[in-house]
Amino acid sequence: MIFSVRPIQTVLVFLLGIIFGSFINAYIFRLHEKNNKKYKKSNLSILSGRSICPKCQHVLSVSELIPLFSWIYLKGKCKNCHKSISIQYPIVELLTGLLFVFSYKYWPYGFSELRTTIFGLWLLLLVTFIVLSVYDFKWMILPNILVKYSTLIGVLLIILLAIDQRSPKLLIESLISGIILFIFFYGLFVFSKGMWIGGGDVKISFLLGILAMTPVNCFLLVFIASLLGCIYSVPIIFFKNLELNSKIPFGPFLIISTVIVFFYATDLLNWYKTLVF
Ligand SMILES: [Zn+2]
Repeated sequence: MIFSVRPIQTVLVFLLGIIFGSFINAYIFRLHEKNNKKYKKSNLSILSGRSICPKCQHVLSVSELIPLFSWIYLKGKCKNCHKSISIQYPIVELLTGLLFVFSYKYWPYGFSELRTTIFGLWLLLLVTFIVLSVYDFKWMILPNILVKYSTLIGVLLIILLAIDQRSPKLLIESLISGIILFIFFYGLFVFSKGMWIGGGDVKISFLLGILAMTPVNCFLLVFIASLLGCIYSVPIIFFKNLELNSKIPFGPFLIISTVIVFFYATDLLNWYKTLVF
């Protein structure tokens, strides 16, 4: 199905995706460990310096840096210390590749000049979304710097989309949606004293709201995210015997829901109407 149109472009988009996935893994490691004294010698700046094995700090060679394939070829173990490399690495690479291909295949706006730029911004947003999701799953935090940059990219994307569609209404409605979602989340945060949602969720809500583009879509976004959160947490509470008030990261579910709403809000709402009316 996926390969029915433009197979070469699809493969290229997938390769671009796994390369970005590899960059995401390196970026997450560096952002989180940049102040860790253990790695001081390895010069862990965010964008420069060679990648290292987190366990033995051996500098990775070119053959160990090929996204996805290196992990498979090395059977998930470091070439030097033979300790296992986290499954996060191939999962993130594969996920990024698949999300890029999905976005390319189902992109609703076409690929004329300006629209290709908008598509590029969307791919960048996906990259920041994956970093934010992994961060939230691992450390229950959405780093400010990423929230800031992804919001900037999102605002730019919506502005260009409004220009492309010659629709000031799209821009105004998106901004109103962002503000509504922000106020709603801020209210939940204050009301529950940070128990129901985290401060990071509040900070990212404006971006997710503008991407939802209408207040009704915001409602849909929150509904789907809550549903996904429930589906995820029920087996965990059941098997790991967690308390009902244990904290579960909500950011990843909000983000997944935003991607679903961005592509399928109209279809989902039409489907809902056929059920009700
Ligand atoms: Zn090693």
